[in-house]
Amino acid sequence: MMAAVTAARRGLSVLVTEQMDKPGKKLYATGNGRCNFTNAVIEKRCFHGDEQLLEAVLAQFSKEETLSFFHEIGVFPKEKNGYYYPNSMQASSVVDALVAEMKKDKVNLVLNSGLQTVDPWKNSFLIKTTAGSFYGKQVIFATGLMASPKLGSDGSALQIIKNLGHHFMPVLPVLCGFEARGFEFKKASKVRCEAELALFVDGKCMVTERGELQFADYGISGIPVFQISSPAAHALYEKKETVVTINFLPDLSFREIKKELHFRLSGNPDGTSSVLLSGLLNQNLVVPVSKKAGISMNRSLDEQAVHNLASVLHECPVILTGMHGFSFAQACAGGIKTEEIHIKTLESGLIPGIYFAGEILDVDGICGGYNLQWAWASGYVAGSAVGHD
Ligand SMILES: Cc1cc2nc3c(=O)[nH]c(=O)nc-3n(C[C@H](O)[C@H](O)[C@H](O)COP(=O)(O)OP(=O)(O)OC[C@H]3O[C@@H](n4cnc5c(N)ncnc54)[C@H](O)[C@@H]3O)c2cc1C
Repeated sequence: MMAAVTAARRGLSVLVTEQMDKPGKKLYATGNGRCNFTNAVIEKRCFHGDEQLLEAVLAQFSKEETLSFFHEIGVFPKEKNGYYYPNSMQASSVVDALVAEMKKDKVNLVLNSGLQTVDPWKNSFLIKTTAGSFYGKQVIFATGLMASPKLGSDGSALQIIKNLGHHFMPVLPVLCGFEARGFEFKKASKVRCEAELALFVDGKCMVTERGELQFADYGISGIPVFQISSPAAHALYEKKETVVTINFLPDLSFREIKKELHFRLSGNPDGTSSVLLSGLLNQNLVVPVSKKAGISMNRSLDEQAVHNLASVLHECPVILTGMHGFSFAQACAGGIKTEEIHIKTLESGLIPGIYFAGEILDVDGICGGYNLQWAWASGYVAGSAVGHD
């Protein structure tokens, strides 16, 4: 929609084919229905993928330009801890404003029109869809990859793009949970707790992240897991040993945790781990944490047990075994190989007249409005470049 509006404002005749029955279905789901559409701090470290491509695109459309574009089309911004939302706190405001702008700029939006083939034809392209065929002098693919396919990005355009000769970096689900072993996840399922995570790939610490961890029967999820998901997904794809350590008491050092356990034990010399952990940890974590520390539930704790318990509270390793899958992912890593496109215009280097925008390119962001900033910026770049001979 951003690419369409940008091109149409330049006087080009624009047609959008959308396979769903509504435009922007994914946008409605963003930011828990509130649409976190950009961030006050846009930095390289908030993205993964091709750095040169990222820089070339973001240099042409900054977060200030995002804010001013949306303000201009009626989305008044509200900032919360650096995250920008529409003031209505309703994602529908963003969709409505984009759809209204497309209408104003005379963009022809054809719904229920799934792309089937795109073929070069007499200096233009023949675009076959489930709703009929169209011709276009240029084509911008802004079809997403495969995250949350129910919302439209079902990967159906990938083969069409491959048929044009393009290749893809591995497409992996990110901003998703991970299947894991090495902890009684079923017992801990649905627990949410503040924790600090560290991701280790083949023994090397890659990134740490603090936030609300969520346990699920399959493994771990929640914002801090999403934030480390891109390097974790790549490590799993490359079949590397991928371990996350959980610090359940991130405000205390290991020594302080031990001190606290000793203090608790001094008041309860026969204390079991349930007694010792009560009030310190979510009740549903007591058994899995104790078991991880090798402690039997009805035995009073000795010095070794206190040490083991403190170790697990401070650094509980779980082994990631898989990503929770595209259906549950908010974004995808990977995309069109950057060496096959012109990074300043997003035009195909293989077929002049074909352009790309959004998640289909090899850039993905962490949570915080980065994926949408990327979508707006790359949509703007492709929409500005299209139509120039
Ligand atoms: C639940 C959820 C919450 C999110 N929250 C945020 C957030 O708050 N902030 C943020 O920055 N990012 C968020 N994201 C990520 C963000 O929404 C995406 O990165 C962004 O929408 C990608 O934009 P896009 O235009 O490249 O692809 P999409 O938004 O996926 O749009 C692609 C469009 O192409 C259509 N299409 C696909 N294939 C075909 C075909 N063959 N024929 C015709 N049409 C086709 C699809 O139906 C779809 O409408 C969230 C994602 C999800 C799933």
